[in-house]
Amino acid sequence: MKLLLIAEYRDGKLLSGYTELLGFAEKMGAESVMFLAGNDGALPKYDGKLYLADAAVCGEYNPDLHKKLIMEIVAKEQPDMVVVSHSSYGWDLAPRVAYAMKAAQVSEVVEVKDNMMVVPVCNSKLRRTVKCNTGQTVVTLQAGAFSTVESGGSPAVENIVVDGEGRIVFTGYEEAESGGVDLSKAEIIVSAGRGIGKPENVAMIADLAKALGGEYGASRPVVDSEWVEHNRQVGTTGQTVAPKLYVACGISGAIQHLAGMKKSEFVVAVNTDKDAPIGEVADVLVVADLKLFIPLLKEKVAAL
Ligand SMILES: Cc1cc2nc3c(=O)[nH]c(=O)nc-3n(C[C@H](O)[C@H](O)[C@H](O)COP(=O)(O)OP(=O)(O)OC[C@H]3O[C@@H](n4cnc5c(N)ncnc54)[C@H](O)[C@@H]3O)c2cc1C
Repeated sequence: MKLLLIAEYRDGKLLSGYTELLGFAEKMGAESVMFLAGNDGALPKYDGKLYLADAAVCGEYNPDLHKKLIMEIVAKEQPDMVVVSHSSYGWDLAPRVAYAMKAAQVSEVVEVKDNMMVVPVCNSKLRRTVKCNTGQTVVTLQAGAFSTVESGGSPAVENIVVDGEGRIVFTGYEEAESGGVDLSKAEIIVSAGRGIGKPENVAMIADLAKALGGEYGASRPVVDSEWVEHNRQVGTTGQTVAPKLYVACGISGAIQHLAGMKKSEFVVAVNTDKDAPIGEVADVLVVADLKLFIPLLKEKVAAL
C-alpha cells in the first residue's frame, strides 16, 4: 500500500502534524511519499521522497492550487490513499482532491482496526468502522489520534511547480479572539466536564483550581451549555495545553478533548465510571462522585 501524505505549513513554519501522518502510515504498514507547499528552509524530518512546491509561488494556504499539484503527484505515484490532517487546511483540501480523484473521502479518522478506518459519529458518542469501495481514498486524521513518528533523515526533494493561478486569493490569517485566560501557559489546570451536572458546580472546580494555584478549564459540552466561556475550552476546537498537572473532573476522555491535553505531565481524573476512556491517559484515576470528592480535596489542599 502506498500513501501520499500532505504536510502543512503555516505562517512560514512547518507544522508538526506531519509526524502523526507518519504514525498513521506506520500503523497501516504502508510506504509513503509526501507533499509540502513550503520552502527548503524548513523541511520535515523524513526519509522518503518529498514533493516540494515553493509557498512563495503557490501560497502556503491555497487548497485550489495545491489540489492541482497533488493531482500531478497522484498521476505519477498512484497512491492508494491521500492523507491530510483534520485541520482547517485539511477540511478545505480533502474534498477538492477526493472529487478530482473520484475517490471516497473518510473524514476524522481516529483509529485503524484490521486495516479499516474508525471514525466518530453522533458527536463522538459512537464510532463506526469504514471500508471504502473506491480503489483510492482521501483521508483526514483527527489530531492526536495517532502516535507521532519522525523518520529522522532528510527527504529526497523533488521540486514541483504549478501552472495558472487558481481561483482562491489568500488574504491572511486572522487570530481567533483569545481574550480572558491563556490556559496554554498554566502549570496547573482543573477542568470541568459534563459530569459536573449543573452550572452551579463550576464554582467547585474553580475553587479547587484556585487552591492549587492554577486555572480552571472545561470540556466542550460545558462550554456549549454556556456554563464556562469558550476561552477556557480544552481540545481540538479549544486550547491546547501542557500543564504540569491536569485534573479532569467528570470528563469521559473523548479523542477531541485528549488531543488538547495529552501533553500534560501528570493527569488525575475523577470519574464515577471506572472504565471511562480518560482512565487510559490518567496517571491516577479516582473513581468517585466529583460532587463529594472535589470539596474534600479542596479542603485538604487549602490546609497544606
Ligand atoms: C468536531 C468536534 C470537535 C470537538 N472539540 C472538542 C473540544 O475541543 N473539546 C472537548 O472537550 N470536546 C470536543 N468535542 C466533543 C467531544 O467529542 C466529546 O463529546 C466531549 O469531549 C465530551 O465531554 P465530556 O467528557 O465533558 O462529557 P461526557 O462524554 O458526557 O462525559 C461525562 C463524564 O462524566 C462522568 N460523570 C458523570 N457524573 C459524574 C460525577 N457525579 N462525578 C464524576 N464523574 C461523573 C461520566 O462517567 C462521563 O465519563 C468535539 C466534538 C467534535 C465532533
